[in-house]
Amino acid sequence: MKRGKILALALIIIGTTIFIWTYFQPIENNNLQKENSIVTDSIPEPVIEYGINTDSFTVYKGIIKPNEFLANILLKYKIPYTEIDQLVNKSENIFNVKKLAAGKKYTILCSKDSLGKAQCFIYEPNSIDYVVFDMRDTISIYKGKKEVTTKIQQASGTIKSSLYQTLADANVSPVLAIEMADVFAWTIDFYRIQKGDWFKVVYEERFVEGKSIGVGRVLASNFNHYNKDFFACYFVQDSIGDYFDAEANSLRRAFLKSPLKFGRLTSGFTMRRFHPVQKRNKPHLGTDYAAPTGTPIMATGDGIVIASSYTGGNGNYVKIKHNSTYSTQYLHMSKRGAKVGQHVMQGDVIGYVGSTGLATGPHVCYRFWKNGSQTNHLKEDFPPSKPVEPAHLKRYKKELKKYKTKVDKIKLKKAVI
Ligand SMILES: [Zn+2]
Repeated sequence: MKRGKILALALIIIGTTIFIWTYFQPIENNNLQKENSIVTDSIPEPVIEYGINTDSFTVYKGIIKPNEFLANILLKYKIPYTEIDQLVNKSENIFNVKKLAAGKKYTILCSKDSLGKAQCFIYEPNSIDYVVFDMRDTISIYKGKKEVTTKIQQASGTIKSSLYQTLADANVSPVLAIEMADVFAWTIDFYRIQKGDWFKVVYEERFVEGKSIGVGRVLASNFNHYNKDFFACYFVQDSIGDYFDAEANSLRRAFLKSPLKFGRLTSGFTMRRFHPVQKRNKPHLGTDYAAPTGTPIMATGDGIVIASSYTGGNGNYVKIKHNSTYSTQYLHMSKRGAKVGQHVMQGDVIGYVGSTGLATGPHVCYRFWKNGSQTNHLKEDFPPSKPVEPAHLKRYKKELKKYKTKVDKIKLKKAVI
């Protein structure tokens, strides 16, 4: 589920073109060679697949076709309807056979005798899980998992267009770009990475049966952005994993709870409220903080000003983009104090409280955007952004040193121009 979310995010983050999708195809790992055939003078080792010795069967492998059901497949392998019926009934609480999806792999084990009847049907909903329908004696249906092995990999690149493209050119799964963009979301604006920026990364790649099933976690990375090094190191403390920099600070940033130092929350975020000026019910997609005209309004997080303007409804307002996920907006200012394109830090004054636009009295309407839609910032559950705790500092420094050495040793791939 998380991956799905990240994928959606990635498109926003990297802002690249559709042809990128072609790179989503899993990249075969060329370093891994197929297992060598068994030495001839020893007894061949049994072939165990899905926990079954498959030597004693004729093995058929296939891919579920559109509109193909369990019955279509099994009938071909001499399983009568009555038995299929039993299978379906028995599988009810284990696996819903209606979920067999086109494009997924299956394996059929048939007896080697003249009948050649199916003995086992194995369905693979993904590259790790499988479901066995064993019809040998009494029907038994069970789930299993293939062994996943993790290999530590490394990659590097010099940006020439996007992080995505750079990784694709380096023959590395661009899914890594999504992971990296996530790690550095608060430090680097991936819309603004420039030609000449470079990165080195140590990450996990997961394998099943010698085949890559994708990029796992980023363990450490150095991203050089505008000639400045940003280091990230994955570290687990009190069973929570997070990314920290070379100074053991969290890479995440928290938002200020309110854009005013002293202000009173006068109207919360609601999908329905009576608008005091328009005299009708409409959603209030912000949080109002009342304060005297002229009270400074602060940026609740670091970011770039993407709007500083006036509209009839908003009055004078400023909008800040914090990273590819979050933006904030501040309305009804008496005076704006930030220009478009300006980098602002958390706590910087970006304007002053007023009542311009549709407002009854001086207040700031604070709007919080997450992935393009407005949300209630008071209900957002932000991960902690605390540094490595003193109790874990020694262990962190050891980890950091280990990974920093590893990252530094990676040879930088130059951009192909
Ligand atoms: Zn408001």
